[in-house]
Amino acid sequence: MIHVRQLVKEYRGAVSTAALRGVDLDVEAGTFAAVVGPSGCGKSTLLYVLGGMLGATSGTVRVGGFDVTAAGERARTAFRRTEIGFVFQKFNLLGALDVEDNLRLAARIAGRADGAAERIDALLERVGLTGKRRARPAELSQGEQQRVAIARALVKEPRILLADEPTGNLDTASSRAIMGLFREVAGGPGPTILMITHNPECAAVADVVIPMEDGRTGAPYPNAAARPSAERGRR
Ligand code: ADP
Repeated sequence: MIHVRQLVKEYRGAVSTAALRGVDLDVEAGTFAAVVGPSGCGKSTLLYVLGGMLGATSGTVRVGGFDVTAAGERARTAFRRTEIGFVFQKFNLLGALDVEDNLRLAARIAGRADGAAERIDALLERVGLTGKRRARPAELSQGEQQRVAIARALVKEPRILLADEPTGNLDTASSRAIMGLFREVAGGPGPTILMITHNPECAAVADVVIPMEDGRTGAPYPNAAARPSAERGRR
């Protein structure tokens, strides 16, 4: 699903930083992968290049057959809108809209307004927030807000779910609930998941762990406790 070859990303400014220094990575469809490594090693940069939010300096990134690095700005934007779901540490919900409208707007922006009402019902049920569909983000706990953000990312049925420290702002109980949700999503027909985390307990929930250091990825290793979801006969 994700194929990265010799990916280099330099931030050029007064001081140039080589954030990615030749990343090679393959992630199979349906896998739930955790990216771990010290602060500043390039995890976020990798995620943003994979998701088409940031251009690469050199190298190739293919996601589900789409060549992200060869695509022009317009094609990359369309790809990001339709194929990629993002979940951030800060939930980035629209405070003026209630839960349901946050999801509805996300579906519309992705060009997936058709059937959105049914998907929203199912997703709210799945994240346990059916009773809060009319609440504004400020009326929800941090963990609930992140559950809304996950539902919002999933409402467009993306191929890839990219999560940048999704539990970074959450207490232990809420983090576990979010990881339970990711685990459940990874066990269904849903997206391949790539999650950055500093939390070993969260990394342990994933199928595979991708270690990263100094702008490069190491060999991914399977988690002993989790069976790769790709092996459970899906996709
Ligand atoms: P991580 O997510 O592992 O903490 P990042 O991908 O955020 O690492 O950063 C990798 C390197 O690139 C760091 O040295 C960081 O300072 C640098 N960097 C990140 N974003 C920018 C930017 N917008 N401009 C310049 N340098 C950046």
